[in-house]
Amino acid sequence: MKKGIQSKISENRKYKNKAVKKSKYWVAIILTFVMMLMLIITFRVFMETFIQYVFSDRLEEEIKEAESMGTEYEILGKDGLAVYDNDYFILDSEGTTIASRGKNTCNMKKKGKWTNMVSDKEVHIVYADFTNKNVVPKGDSLNVGFWEIFDSTMDLNVSDWNTEQYFDSPLWIQIPVKDGEERLIVKAPMRIYLSSLLMMIAVILTTGLMFFVIFVIMIVFCINNMLSYRRLSDLFFTNVVTGGKNHNWFIVNGSRIIKKHSSDKRNFAYLSIDVVKYSSFCLCHSVAEGEEILRSVFTALLKKKTGGELCVLNNSSDFAMMLRYNSEEEIRERIEKILNAASAATGHYKMVFHIGVYFDAAKKNENGKYRRRKDDDFEALFNNAAMSCHTIADKPVSAIAYYDDDLAEENRWENLVFEAQQEALDKEEFLVYYQPKYDPNTNKLRGAEALIRWQSPKYGFLTPGKFIPIFEKNGFITKIDRYMLEHVAKDQKRWLDEGRECVPVSVNVSRVHFAEKDLADQIRDIVGSAGTPRELIEIELTESAFFDDKRELLSIIKQLKDYGFMVSMDDFGSGYSSLNSLKDMPLDVLKLDAEFFRGENEGDRGRIIVAETIRMARSLHMLTVAEGVEEKNQVDFLAEQHCDMIQGFYFARPMPSYDYENKMSMKGDVQAD
Ligand code: C2E
Ligand code: MG
Ligand code: MG
Repeated sequence: MKKGIQSKISENRKYKNKAVKKSKYWVAIILTFVMMLMLIITFRVFMETFIQYVFSDRLEEEIKEAESMGTEYEILGKDGLAVYDNDYFILDSEGTTIASRGKNTCNMKKKGKWTNMVSDKEVHIVYADFTNKNVVPKGDSLNVGFWEIFDSTMDLNVSDWNTEQYFDSPLWIQIPVKDGEERLIVKAPMRIYLSSLLMMIAVILTTGLMFFVIFVIMIVFCINNMLSYRRLSDLFFTNVVTGGKNHNWFIVNGSRIIKKHSSDKRNFAYLSIDVVKYSSFCLCHSVAEGEEILRSVFTALLKKKTGGELCVLNNSSDFAMMLRYNSEEEIRERIEKILNAASAATGHYKMVFHIGVYFDAAKKNENGKYRRRKDDDFEALFNNAAMSCHTIADKPVSAIAYYDDDLAEENRWENLVFEAQQEALDKEEFLVYYQPKYDPNTNKLRGAEALIRWQSPKYGFLTPGKFIPIFEKNGFITKIDRYMLEHVAKDQKRWLDEGRECVPVSVNVSRVHFAEKDLADQIRDIVGSAGTPRELIEIELTESAFFDDKRELLSIIKQLKDYGFMVSMDDFGSGYSSLNSLKDMPLDVLKLDAEFFRGENEGDRGRIIVAETIRMARSLHMLTVAEGVEEKNQVDFLAEQHCDMIQGFYFARPMPSYDYENKMSMKGDVQAD
């Protein structure tokens, strides 16, 4: 499915859902282990480096001595070694001893490498002597590393310790001589004083303790983090009313399910279950009782789902389900049962449920393989179900609506409009049409209404019914209203400058716009910057706007009037009675809805209502405009009733500005009909 309004609107929320979903425990646990490992390695490397540094100097000297013995031997032969005290032995290339002094205690199997850290000289091979010394290292190896030295100290008689004491741990150092044909292996005493050892132990203990504390802090931090994450994700995914999962969880899990490979050959049904008039129920009874009902319904719905299916209380009063099915017949039967179960769960209260359903059946592609769902937008699929639910919103009884081709087309069109709207505005594809309003007594032009048209190079010439409701839904309407006002103000100014007799032009302002507190100022500024007199602009509010925040509306109307604009109530009588609004709002014009002049409303009773409405408006000092008048007899009747203006096809249809110009007379002209 194409990315459209629905998915754009929910993008932000989805991003948050994903963020929570991705914060898994195992990441924290792995991280903890990695950090622990790094800490241990750092500790070990640090200690090794420290010990090597401590011993490096001493070993350096011994290696130097062995090297000079090697040089002497090469120059003077065995006699050259007489001046040295060290025990030694010389091996030929076969490994046979050529010469020696002292006892050969070298353990040839055990050897370690010593990298001369101080001078960075070549590496010498060092053989350990473990037989002739005061302390026997447990490991028997000679890396002169931390653990060996540490182990060695374990065998010291601690009670005899004083800082002058030392222990010997001699090494055998091998020097290649005579171009490597022979090897001189020299015994080097390695003496470690207790003072050095104690210092070393102190450093080791302090460092160890430091690392241990860091380690404990880290563990505590990780555990704390994991607990916080758990609490947070519980909160994020739990519905407070039912105690079950919520919308976020539904989206996250649903998306995960459909993206699985095994889901490709499955059929899914999305259900949006609306508890109709839930807020009225809460008003009549109480929120607590309402929530009790939601809980019972939720429990009933849970019983109707099987493993791998989802059910949540989605928003304040609508449930969301994702079911699996084999055949449409079977799932339709199941949905009927779900509706019955929900209705039965409300106890002695009779409540109405609307279920919107969208079937997402597995489909094969041209290769005969099941189409992958990995790119599908779960939320958009569920929105199809919610959308079908909207189509039965007016039904007073429980009902099920299935998503069909018409709805799919509507949805597709909505997405196309959404994608094209901004470019259309930038390229001025929207046109202002003017529908004149005439005085039925004099047949003179007294006003006009600006009505939008969309001349789209892609979709052709479109009337407002095709796109205005979509703009109202996606919020673009505010830009459109502003655009229309700007163009009307400029047109009026131009006509004035051309010397035409201008009449007030009314501009529709959507109820969505009334959320903007500075609306009146915006209108004043737009008209002001065109240089148009304010009395030539009238603002039309639809009747439905009067059901929003009345106080806010009243203040905007008053402000508009203060600035000198006329304000009218559009489509009066089309919806709910707005007599009350008439009482409170200081409006200038009342526009009678076209429905008064259609079919069955046209009888005597209809005429009485129209006549009385006009009379009432006159008493309230309001002008009246009758919309949608197409017949001569309607015009005559309205003239008799002193209706001020008629806006209908009888006189003129909405027309482009250049045609409308011809309807206006020039100053000083006699009005031509
Ligand atoms: P509306 O404001 O009530 O405009 C009157 C509608 O009645 C216009 O439809 C007009 O063409 C139609 N009409 C007038 N006389 C007759 C008649 O004798 N017979 C019939 N059958 N129809 C007649 P239109 O232009 O299609 O506009 C429809 C609605 O779209 C408007 O109703 C208004 O609510 C909305 N609209 C139009 N332009 C704008 C705009 O610029 N901004 C906003 N927010 N809404 C607009
Ligand atoms: Mg209007
Ligand atoms: Mg109207």
